Amino acid sequence: MAEKNAASVSGSGAQVVADIGSQPGLTPLDVALRLACEQVAVSDLIETRDLTDCFGAILREDVIAAVNVPSVDNAAMDGYALRLADMAALPQKGDVTMPVAGVSLAGHPFAGEIPVGRAIRIATGAAIPVGADAVIIQENVTANVDESEIRIDRAAIDRLRHGDNIRRAGEDVKQGMVILPAGKRLRPQDVAVAAGQGRAHLVVARPLRVAVFSTGDELAAPGGELPPGGIYDSNRFAMIGMMRAIGCDVTDLGLLRDDFAVLQTALADAAQHHDVILTSGGVSVGKADLLKPVVDSLGEIHAWKLAIKPGKPLMRGRIGDCLVLGLPGNPVSVMVSGLLYAVPLLLHMMGARNEDRAAVRFPVPAGFNLKRGTGRREWLRARLHRNGNGQLVALPFHSSSSGVLSSMVWAEGLIELAENRSSVQQGEIVEYIAFAGLQAF
Ligand code: AMP
Ligand code: MG
Repeated sequence: MAEKNAASVSGSGAQVVADIGSQPGLTPLDVALRLACEQVAVSDLIETRDLTDCFGAILREDVIAAVNVPSVDNAAMDGYALRLADMAALPQKGDVTMPVAGVSLAGHPFAGEIPVGRAIRIATGAAIPVGADAVIIQENVTANVDESEIRIDRAAIDRLRHGDNIRRAGEDVKQGMVILPAGKRLRPQDVAVAAGQGRAHLVVARPLRVAVFSTGDELAAPGGELPPGGIYDSNRFAMIGMMRAIGCDVTDLGLLRDDFAVLQTALADAAQHHDVILTSGGVSVGKADLLKPVVDSLGEIHAWKLAIKPGKPLMRGRIGDCLVLGLPGNPVSVMVSGLLYAVPLLLHMMGARNEDRAAVRFPVPAGFNLKRGTGRREWLRARLHRNGNGQLVALPFHSSSSGVLSSMVWAEGLIELAENRSSVQQGEIVEYIAFAGLQAF
């Protein structure tokens, strides 16, 4: 393996090498996330919640179907249930008439077996009477005034087959099957299918307690005065939003100065009462970048610097049992590293399965040309656009600066460029991650 392509991670004793063209000293995102998921345990804190409070939560039990859905064979359409063998006994030419022996409505089944040579009026969802083997839809039938007799269209009789317009018991859900696997992030349809099993509660992950703060002497809190040369703290709100979106219980710890003692006290205190500390700023190599030494003084650093752009200086460490994630200061870096590293890692801690924490990528032709330096995986803020030929192409924002937060407002997704990709030509395929395909949106 070529020396320049080797990336290593140390801190846990593990030496990981990946030959995907990452810069030396930087860990590729996939490796960093895999290691983090190996080193950070899945939380054993679970709780039982009412169904209506389960949306977005991580399921922590296999939900096994207790009942068949539907519970009995039932009608898929409004019409008449009948026995095909009876049709054979009727004249084989022209329309036929048949007496109606009763009614089966949803919740009010016809009692007993269908009498020979008769039809049963049936509503959608109503139980198929014993002995009936098809439902003829009411559009193919003319009933007399008191609905005691029907005339059935000949063409419809000739078309009618065994089982027509009948939904079979267990056709949707079979008793005994795992209808929802542990680790699934619950969407409306998932909660609904649990309700369809008669479940009123589900066992889900307890929300992680996440302390969030921003660091930097230049920062001012929104609502306050902006000193000359200062900037309002925007990162805290991006972090809080992403954490809330994945169901975390967030404590907003505000702004911290670039001061060793201030940071040390605040982190030590936050670590006592939280599962995770998430910060922005102060993790790079400048004089005011104190987060690393502070975490080092209180606990340990497990990872630092990823082969990603933006977001390179990201740090992972631990103070006691509390995970510490130090995101960089640039606002786009905060969001990209938050969405693609912090969010999947925290979902892992809450027990999410891989499919429910990974970003969804799909291939799209590029609508642009680009040359770039290799060695880091890069994300461009992007939108899909229909070009003059009606083809969907991905277009990047005009600036790739990681300080331009408005690019994230303009964007509807990210173009992902692999570590070793040095150029993009118009029409070549790039990977596109729609914001809707990320867990925190
Ligand atoms: P740092 O990583 O602390 O050197 O910060 C990198 C850049 O991000 C600097 O230009 C900071 O002013 C900016 N920045 C840091 N924290 C924030 C924040 N909370 N909100 C907005 N911009 C920030
Ligand atoms: Mg700073």
